[in-house]
Amino acid sequence: MRTGIGYDVHRLVAGRDLVLGGVKIPFEKGLSGHSDADVLLHAMCDAMLGAAGMGDIGSLFPDSDQRYKNMNSSYFLSETNKLLLAKGFVVQNIDAVIIAERPKLAPYREEMVHHIARTLRIEPPRISIKSTTTEGLGFVGKGQGIGAMCVVLIDSKQ
Ligand code: MG
Repeated sequence: MRTGIGYDVHRLVAGRDLVLGGVKIPFEKGLSGHSDADVLLHAMCDAMLGAAGMGDIGSLFPDSDQRYKNMNSSYFLSETNKLLLAKGFVVQNIDAVIIAERPKLAPYREEMVHHIARTLRIEPPRISIKSTTTEGLGFVGKGQGIGAMCVVLIDSKQ
């Protein structure tokens, strides 16, 4: 068994959709980035790649590559999962935290869990998504950005 950790932050800006965990969330701002800037899925990919010792999302899907412009990050998650499966690794469980002052994310948690479960082809109870504010402190508290942290446990089929 192996564990991995992932962390990501993106800036909140006007004129972009807010996509978290593959779910489009109604809000007056969205996250800026080369892809759809889904911080949760980016942190998840990094945790999975870290657990497998296979680098990080930036080296696999560089933002200098025009193919990934405005890319749905579910593609990164599904490709990352394929790379792990090809090496004999299977995701056992995922625990993640989204760090955002606004909007309230609890109403979207179930949908995120089910989207991620479908993308990774694992059962929803193996996935935990939580959210927290920073009580007004720092860049998250000021509404300048959203962060996500994720840990994953994988094991080997061999
Ligand atoms: Mg990112």
